[in-house]
Parts: sequence; structure tokens; C-alpha cells
Amino acid sequence: MIHQATKNGLYINGSWTQDENQEFFESTNPATGQVEGYCAFATPFQVNQGVESAKNAFRAWKNTPLPERAIFLWKAAQLFEEKKEHLAKTMTKEMGKVLAESLGEVGVVIETCKYMAGEGRRLFGETVSSGATNRHIMMVREPVGVVACITPWNFPVALAGYKILAALISGNTVVWKPASEVALSAQIFTEVFHEVGLPKGVLNLITGAGSKVGAQLAEHSDVKVISFTGSTEVGIKLSETAAKTLKRVSLELGGKNAAIVLKDADLNLAAEAIVKAAFTTTGQRCTAASRVIVEASVKDELLSKVVAITQKLKAGNGLESGVDIGPLTNKNQLETVEKYVSFAVQNGAVIECGGKRIPSEQGYFYEPTVLSNVKNSDRVAQEEIFGPVLAFIEVNSFEEAIELNNDTVYGLSTSLFTSSLHYANRGAKEIESGLVYINNGTSNAELGVAFGGTKHSGNGHREVSHHAFDVMTEWKSIYTTY
Ligand code: NAD
Repeated sequence: MIHQATKNGLYINGSWTQDENQEFFESTNPATGQVEGYCAFATPFQVNQGVESAKNAFRAWKNTPLPERAIFLWKAAQLFEEKKEHLAKTMTKEMGKVLAESLGEVGVVIETCKYMAGEGRRLFGETVSSGATNRHIMMVREPVGVVACITPWNFPVALAGYKILAALISGNTVVWKPASEVALSAQIFTEVFHEVGLPKGVLNLITGAGSKVGAQLAEHSDVKVISFTGSTEVGIKLSETAAKTLKRVSLELGGKNAAIVLKDADLNLAAEAIVKAAFTTTGQRCTAASRVIVEASVKDELLSKVVAITQKLKAGNGLESGVDIGPLTNKNQLETVEKYVSFAVQNGAVIECGGKRIPSEQGYFYEPTVLSNVKNSDRVAQEEIFGPVLAFIEVNSFEEAIELNNDTVYGLSTSLFTSSLHYANRGAKEIESGLVYINNGTSNAELGVAFGGTKHSGNGHREVSHHAFDVMTEWKSIYTTY
């Protein structure tokens, strides 16, 4: 629905701005159906203004000494601490995750600010011994220019933080296009940088439909880098468009992550970790466990433990205490989950628990669902559902488990539960995923560790660590003869 302005519009060139005839969309609470606020549909003209403002700010920001750039990030860390509760509650109201998770996510942003501010005293270059006499060679990292950060709704601020902070500390300027579901949270994030006095134009926030605003950024010749997290489908589209202007594109995409459980595993540990990885954020994580590949001799025991823990999970409004999982983020997500469960049942899967909507007047709630008797070739085991659905698949050996794990187009995250040093090491080597967890859930990223996936889960780039600078900077090699 379209509304007249009642809220902040877009953040361009250091101020909040909106046109006289600005159109707005609603941000709606998926637990209650209540409208939480309004965000602007950026016009094509405003998208261009955002890019122009970032372009104009680039030279001065690039030439600002690195430690001075870092000061803004240190200050932001402090201000995020002060706004933590407000930001976390807004995230829960916009996309439904439980408040404890939202608070944890703001904590990740604070730590990322500090980590990237630390780079203000590093961002090292290299020196190389010259083959010539009286010649000195050094390589320095230089910022690339205007970076468009396009982010999804499942981690409204953490994923934005990974991209935006890496871009800023390395001297780039940013145009950020968040998912519309979480545009209010994006406004609070942006306001922090306004309040710490980030120079005009260094960070710009442009909201609106991905197919319009995001696509325009991908086409724009003054955007030099696209850093995208979202679905594989959109990632491919963006790459195609960006190729025409030779943009560099970093993609963090979907997953179909498995937990492999061998017969020698600690089944209690595995069951706890699997349930957490499958149902936290209502399964709406790129790293969520959605398949359990288990050796047949321990399948029944593991299944009964997983079902018992899952049945204790309480679904509800994420702002209420005692709630373990919130709603799906939108109606489309809810219908997708229903569709996949029905495909699975048609193919012979057995619903061990869950399997239906939770009655609610306005909310998009679905029971955490465990399926057994699933084949790895079933759609429910091959396609990303992005919801609270976990499928059990039986195998007869370690080798078969690895084969099935690798038999999807994705390669983001895999867990292997075993007490065998031999299988742990072979698994680490043979699993085709960017993230491998031995005796841990699939969803355990730590700051400072390269994050990203293989195959259709990405395009080879990594973030959440200094490896992000491989995207956000380019090398300049300087030869000096003296
Ligand atoms: P999405 O691809 O629909 O949208 C992501 C962003 O792209 C949004 O801001 C959206 O508005 C924008 N967008 C949509 N169409 C566009 C277009 N044609 N051109 C440019 N931009 C466009 O994804 P989503 O539904 O918001 O998020 C869920 C997806 O994100 C899942 O596939 C999930 O696996 C993935 N994800 C991946 C990671 C990772 O790090 N690998 C992390 C979180 C989420």
C-alpha cells in the first residue's frame, strides 16, 4: 500500500530527504500484522542522487588517513551499544526473530565495528624484493570507489555491517539498499553513522523494491562494486547486469546445509546442535541445517531425540519472553514452507512432528517440522526452503554420507558429528562447503573467520574477516628506482 510521508525518507548526502510526492511502503510486523512504520520507494532520480553523492564524497574519504576513518567506527560501536535495545526491538518487530537473537545480532555489529576499526591500524600492503639494483617495490591496497551493498532481511544489520564497515574502513563510499522488510532497522543503523558525524555522502541509504532500486544500482556505471547477500537467483541476475559495466561483484547466496551424523557420534550433542541450527531464526538462515544425513543404525535414536527437543520449542511473538521461535517473515515464506512440506509428503516423507500452520489471526506462524523417509533427490532435500523444516535421510556409510552431502548445487555449510579422528579429518577434506563444522551446528560464524560458500552458494569471495578487503580494495604496485 502507498502512503504519504510520515517518516524519514532516504539518507542522501548526509541528510534525510524525501520528495513532495514521495511514495512510501509499510513495514509490517509478521507476528501481529501491525504496521510499524513507513519507508520510501526511491525514485530512479533519487537512486542516481545517492550514487552521485557517494561518488562526490569518495576522493576526500579515500584521502582521510586510515586511523581517522577508524574513529567513526569506534564511535559507532559505542552508539550502537546505546541504541541496542531500540534497534533490536525494531528488528524483531519487522522480521520476527526472537528478541534475544536480535540483541545478539546488534552485538555482532558492535564487534564488527571494533574489528574493522582495528584495521585502521593495519590494512597492510606488501613489499617485494626487486631483481634490479636500487629499486624498491611495494604493493598497497587502494579503495575501489562507490560500493553498492544489497542485503536481505534475515539478518537486517549484521550482514549490512560486514559489508558496509569493510567498505568504509578501506576508503570506499557506500550506497546501501536493504531488503524492504527491514528498512526501519536500516534507518536506525544509518542514523548511528549520521550521529557520529560521518562525512556527507560517505554512506547513503536508498530503500525500495529490489527489482527497481537494486537493479538500477547494478546498471549504474559509477557503481564500482556490488556486495550482495541474498538468493542465488537474484545473485545470478545481478552478475549478468554488472558484467556490462565490468563491476566487481561479491555474492553470498543460498544453501542446502546438512548435518552428517555417523554411528560413533555423541547423539545428545548432535541432536541439540541440529535442532538449534535448524530452527533458530525460524530456519531462515543461509546456514540453517535443513538435511540430516544419518547412518541407518542410529537413525531412530537420533530422530527421537531431535523430535523430543523440537516439540519443546515454543513459537510466538519474538518480543515475548519464553518464545523460542518467531513467525516466518512474510506470507510468501509461509506459503513456500507449506508447499515444500506437501511436496515431501507426496513423495513419501513422514511428518515426525510439526507439518502445519499455527493458527494466528495476523501472524505467519508454522510449526517446527521434522520429516523422515526423505530421499536426497526429493525437492525438499535439494532446494532451499528457508523455513523451519528438517529432513532426515538415511545412509549406510561415511562415503555415502559425503556423496549425498555434496550432491546439491549449493556448498555453504556442513556439520559432521563423529568421535573418530579419521572421519573428522576425511570429512573436513571431502565435504564441498565453504564452512565445515566438526561436532558443531551448521550456523556458527565467528568474526575474523572467512565466511562464504562454494558452488551456487557464492562466487568465491569471502567476508566477515580481512578477506573482505580482496573485494573492497584493489592492489597498486609501485616501483621506485633511487
Ligand atoms: P533476495 O535475493 O530476494 O533479496 C536480497 C536483496 O536483493 C534485497 O534487498 C532485495 O530487495 C534485493 N533484490 C531483489 N531483487 C533484485 C534485483 N532484481 N536486483 C537487485 N536487487 C534485488 O533474498 P531474501 O529473500 O531477502 O533473503 C533470503 C536469501 O538470502 C536466501 O536465499 C538466503 O540463503 C540468502 N542469504 C545468504 C546469506 C549468505 O551469507 N550466504 C546470508 C543470509 C541470507
